Amino acid sequence: MNASDAPTLYIVVPCFNEEEVLPETSRRLREKVQALVASKKIGEGSRILFSNDGSTDKTWEMVRQLHDDPAFGSLYTGISLAHNRGHQNALYAGLMAALAHGCDAAVSMDADLQDDVDAIDEMVDAYLQGANIVYGVRDNRDTDTRFKRGTAEAFYGLMKAMGTETVPNSADFRLMDAKALEALSQYGETNLFLRGIVPTLGFKTAKVYYRRGERFAGQSKYPLSKMLSLAVDGITSFSVTPLRIVTIGGGVFVLIAMVMLAYALISLAMGTTVSGWTSLLVSIWFVGGALMISLGVVGEYVGRIYMESKQRPRYIVWEELS
Ligand code: UDP
Ligand code: MG
Repeated sequence: MNASDAPTLYIVVPCFNEEEVLPETSRRLREKVQALVASKKIGEGSRILFSNDGSTDKTWEMVRQLHDDPAFGSLYTGISLAHNRGHQNALYAGLMAALAHGCDAAVSMDADLQDDVDAIDEMVDAYLQGANIVYGVRDNRDTDTRFKRGTAEAFYGLMKAMGTETVPNSADFRLMDAKALEALSQYGETNLFLRGIVPTLGFKTAKVYYRRGERFAGQSKYPLSKMLSLAVDGITSFSVTPLRIVTIGGGVFVLIAMVMLAYALISLAMGTTVSGWTSLLVSIWFVGGALMISLGVVGEYVGRIYMESKQRPRYIVWEELS
């Protein structure tokens, strides 16, 4: 951007089978961008970029139509991944495409309008005042189901206990400027957990509070299995604490074994040996279970080392609109 004119803003939206919400989302984002351009806060070249995450419905067709429609000029653009690679990868792909297009800043948000479109104004203000990263932080969880709220709280609590630095109640609704995106592009890991990486970038940050609404239409694209895998990625890609817990657990078990040995020797001396079948049976199962869990934890990390060592691309771009 040259000093005189307003910055180019990209709004990046990952989409996986979002045909039900796309017409409304694209309309509201268009109004937002047009209003911001009219108020001269952002430049004429600002755009909306949809990152299609291997959708099997009409999502990509709809994006193409928006892009091709002369009524909208060059407002809409998009990239389409060759396969469903998950929200984090789709978002990252979109942000990198925005950076490649030469944006000055990019706002990432969900397609389902749960993130408040009007909070973008404040994000842009914070950016214009010098912030490199502006986090959207939700001020309530009223609109979530009790289950989602409970699991989310447990998740953030666990993350904190394990030493991953996150901004609580902030998901992937945030603004990043080109500098921060450039820094992000240097992170080569396969197991992407942007909520954990972005706070480690540093830079000048700001927070904008917003009320998170309900999904505008359609079903959540985040079933429990995907939530769990995001949580495991979030912890294992930032912390080795679980491995340490395994080691400490092993130490505790050795101590217990020594106490048991003393107990067995005393019982032997006192001639009361045969009883204790129950405790033996319980211990066998317990120790077996504890060992399997410990091996599992180590296995999670070994598996991740394996995935990272292959250095596969995170995603393949199948089609890119101008
Ligand atoms: N999403 C994606 N790939 C996936 C799953 C989800 O790109 O494999 C997108 C989805 O289209 C939406 C965002 O990620 O824009 C958040 O998903 P969703 O709203 O379903 O998650 P929830 O709000 O239920 O956690
Ligand atoms: Mg949602």
